[in-house]
Amino acid sequence: MNIIPRDQHNISRKNISDGALKVMARLRGSGHQAYLVGGAVRDLLLGGHPKDFDIATDATPETVHALFRNSRIIGRRFRIVHVRFGREIIEVTTFRGHHDNDLEPSSESGGNHSRQSASGLLLRDNVYGTLEEDAVRRDLTVNALYYDSGTFEVFDHVHGLKDLERRSICIIGEPAVRFTEDPVRMLRVLRFAAKLEFKIDTHTARAIPGCAHLLAEIPAARLFDEFLKLFLSGYAAATFDMLIRHKLMLYLFPDSYAEMLRHTVAHALVRAAMASTDQRIAQDKPVTPAFILAALLWPVVQREALRLQERGDPPPAAMHSAAQEAISEAARNISIPKRFSQPMREIWEFQLRLENRRGRKAAELVDHRRFRAAYDFLLLREQAGEDTGDLGSWWTEFQQLPMEQRLAQAAQEKGPGGGGRRSRRRSSNRA
Ligand code: ATP
Ligand code: MG
Repeated sequence: MNIIPRDQHNISRKNISDGALKVMARLRGSGHQAYLVGGAVRDLLLGGHPKDFDIATDATPETVHALFRNSRIIGRRFRIVHVRFGREIIEVTTFRGHHDNDLEPSSESGGNHSRQSASGLLLRDNVYGTLEEDAVRRDLTVNALYYDSGTFEVFDHVHGLKDLERRSICIIGEPAVRFTEDPVRMLRVLRFAAKLEFKIDTHTARAIPGCAHLLAEIPAARLFDEFLKLFLSGYAAATFDMLIRHKLMLYLFPDSYAEMLRHTVAHALVRAAMASTDQRIAQDKPVTPAFILAALLWPVVQREALRLQERGDPPPAAMHSAAQEAISEAARNISIPKRFSQPMREIWEFQLRLENRRGRKAAELVDHRRFRAAYDFLLLREQAGEDTGDLGSWWTEFQQLPMEQRLAQAAQEKGPGGGGRRSRRRSSNRA
């Protein structure tokens, strides 16, 4: 164990939340060990401002819960304690120990056991241990640094500091074993490499192709949680590039991935949605997963809608069925809550309505609550190189007119669909 004294690192207590300091002080006060750990220590050492604070302790969840009235025990796969201070939640985890596959569920310290599936997937990980044991159970070396707010020392058991200096994302232990225990760690490797702009250690990267298929075992609900971290943390575009480069997109959105490989326009659309989301987050504007999901599945929806139209379905019916189909197909891998699938459908169906520039309907569309998102989506499609007959700039000007002028102009527009300039996919544009 490497111990770095206070004068040899740049962590200052000033940048640690009061809640986290309080939790650590009280745990120490009752005779326990307590350290700041994970992303917070990593980000503090990199000179950043952590968004949340995780604490590791030798006290059991029950003991922690008993010490803090404002706390509750959550989780099953990992039992952790949430301590609440106003809007801030401090996550307290008990040191995890080595697990023994033959271990019988032990009766001491309630639920102190782990479980693995036949393939080696870790189903439960609640064996308690020491700081050293806890360190090697973590995912990345740079996520396994501990800070003692009492002595101001940093504890490094896995060369995390060296990797932080080398700017390297390195899995702790044997990569294939760690990825097999929990395949989501592969997504975490790519996410942190993208966010921190670190390179991925070669040994770590080399194990990904052989373990990638294990992501199919991950429950759709957990993948949705991870999806949010991948694409709504402000580094979606860089993370997306990583997922493409390491071919993990195949396990998140297989159908969209196939479309993106075949059509540069499909790839460009998703990439543009990611970049636009990052930009909005940087500007503190609200973002929704529905927009990114709408972009991700659009190439599939479009393909299906076209097929149904060729079979004779009218465009709105074709779009409706295609949307239904694309969402239920995607949900086999990643669950998509209804509060997001509904706006996705509306954004897609709106794309058809935007093709009609004629009459009162077109004039009133501008005031629809989904207009903004649908219009932004249309611009994204054009930016990606989709041929919409310059529909975007028409709506850009049209929406700025007062209602009366909109009505007048919409009355002059020719024929259905604004002169028959229908949206077409540029299928000649191949990757
Ligand atoms: P951020 O919160 O900035 O996304 P983080 O590193 O704090 O990053 P969390 O998901 O909050 O990430 O997890 C906290 C810590 O728990 C991690 O730093 C890591 O040490 C450990 N951890 C999280 N997920 C796993 C996992 N799947 N396997 C092993 N350790 C993990
Ligand atoms: Mg965290």
